[in-house]
Amino acid sequence: MSAVDHSPLTAARETLRRVWGHDDFRGDQAAIIEEVVAGRDALVLMPTGGGKSLCYQVPSLVREGTGVVISPLIALMADQVDALSALGVRAGFLNSTQLPHERAGTEQALLAGELDLLYLAPERLRVPDTLALLDRVTSGGGLALFAIDEAHCVSQWGHDFRPDYLGLSILHERWPEVPRIALTATATQATRREVATRLQLEDARHFVADFDRPNIRYRIVAKDSPQQQLLAFLRAEHEGDAGIVYCLSRASVERVATFLTRQGIPALPYHAGLDRGVRAEHQSRFLREDGLVMVATIAFGMGIDKPDVRFVAHLDLPKSVEGYYQETGRAGRDGLPSTAWLAYGLADVVQHRKMIAASEGDAAHRRNLGRHLDAILALCETVTCRREQLLAYFGQPGTGPCGNCDTCLEPPTTWDGTIPAQKLLSTIVRLDRRGQRYGAGHLVDILLGRETDRVRSLGHADLTTFGIGTELDERGWRGVARQLLAAGLVGVEDDYGTLGLTEESGAVLRGERSVPLRQEPERERRRSSRSSGGRARADVTADLTPEETALFERLRAWRAATAKEAGVPAYVVFHDATLRAIATAAPTTTAELGAISGIGAAKLDRYGPGVLATVAGE
Ligand code: ADP
Ligand code: ZN
Repeated sequence: MSAVDHSPLTAARETLRRVWGHDDFRGDQAAIIEEVVAGRDALVLMPTGGGKSLCYQVPSLVREGTGVVISPLIALMADQVDALSALGVRAGFLNSTQLPHERAGTEQALLAGELDLLYLAPERLRVPDTLALLDRVTSGGGLALFAIDEAHCVSQWGHDFRPDYLGLSILHERWPEVPRIALTATATQATRREVATRLQLEDARHFVADFDRPNIRYRIVAKDSPQQQLLAFLRAEHEGDAGIVYCLSRASVERVATFLTRQGIPALPYHAGLDRGVRAEHQSRFLREDGLVMVATIAFGMGIDKPDVRFVAHLDLPKSVEGYYQETGRAGRDGLPSTAWLAYGLADVVQHRKMIAASEGDAAHRRNLGRHLDAILALCETVTCRREQLLAYFGQPGTGPCGNCDTCLEPPTTWDGTIPAQKLLSTIVRLDRRGQRYGAGHLVDILLGRETDRVRSLGHADLTTFGIGTELDERGWRGVARQLLAAGLVGVEDDYGTLGLTEESGAVLRGERSVPLRQEPERERRRSSRSSGGRARADVTADLTPEETALFERLRAWRAATAKEAGVPAYVVFHDATLRAIATAAPTTTAELGAISGIGAAKLDRYGPGVLATVAGE
């Protein structure tokens, strides 16, 4: 051991191999870790699943003293500490959920220099005792670094603002010699700038990762019977997988969770209207059990670092592209194939336009909301690659069609919708002349020439546009109305969702502007899984042989039992990716097992015998 390379990165890599069992760093990790280990500040922008945790965990182990992690995700701290303990890392947390003696125990360990990592809730920094405690640490074993996780919470204009984050400037005022690393998965330029300013990290090196999530397949479908569409999607592509289904309202969360459960798909509801205890229990079960579906409002999800979420489904349109990206980003952190599925329809557009019109705040605020909505609508209606469009939104230049989104896999066709658009618009004009306004449903009835009670009683069968639209069916017309709304060629007038003209409508009516429309696909074809070559299925075991798949399933069963016994989430034992690697390598010795990525020394010790026995079929 004479010519040992003592560079910080060598020590970091050695730690990565010994503790985590990973071969090497990914992407910017090495550069970031080098920066922090050397005692300099860093601002890290990396998508979910990019590997942010290692960027502060490894330096905390390599540097002298304890790394302090500021995290708003109090409910997850215990799990994070468990996961680290399983790796043999000495970690603890301080937050308001602890009993006094638990807190005292952690404080003692901290002062005795027995902690590699300490997770701290931001509001603890307002407590003078906490500041005094950290002072005592600095004068003793020392603080290795401050990591500010979910750093976008400092942004007052962002959707996750936490007032306590504004107090984080105290860290570097009080302990200027301790390096800071701020991390976030929020991508837009505006948020980046605000984070850097508020946390005084303008001079820190900024690391901006590639925001593409190549393992996520994006799919956006036209909504007609959302629950049935969701069910068909889950049955065809994600049987037995864990995933999240996002709904807009609490009521629909409850409805969908009940529906899925009745259909034999284990599902739990999560929204702010549920009891704290119930919420905590559902979250904990989602993390711990295999194959649970969480049906939730967007109150759920930030910081959920469950690696094997195989799908994120939206039954309602998210408010912005940023929200969509963050929510879908919770799928596939482990890098294995996953799906982001969104069903969206006419009613979503009406609903959002209404909400914006009714929202508090000034005109500028409403314009801002409108811009966000337009961007997500453009993503929904695009006929080109969704991924390219998504990345372009975040300022990342495209590299060509991705081949892993619905528009790439089954390119939609467009047709000239100018004449149907004129028919719909002139129906609105004619009603307008009578001083009347109606929603899309009634307009479609008129165009299709349906003599409904309402049509009859209002005398709308007399309109010149009555029955002139038989070239399309109901679905077709709703698609036209939705796309006109999305493109701003039709506007929502009031609380009832009645439709009216916009400034742009005139050009269409006068024939000065043509209206290319996206072909409404036939009703979602039921995709068969492996029989169709497995192309449509985002399946972890898709390219395994039948023997390997069988072993993978045995290992999953072993993992479930082991995790249950230890009271930890299954992924704390091993990630799916690691089980996959074990299933393909089928190791017979401890040495072979230890060579697999994701199996560090502590896990090899603890689980090696169990895994080898499972592989041997005992
Ligand atoms: P983030 O916090 O950015 O969402 P995580 O830190 O949770 O991402 O990491 C995502 C996944 O990638 C985890 O399963 C983690 O174990 C894995 N991972 C991270 N870095 C590496 C690496 N260098 N080698 C192998 N796996 C890694
Ligand atoms: Zn694509």
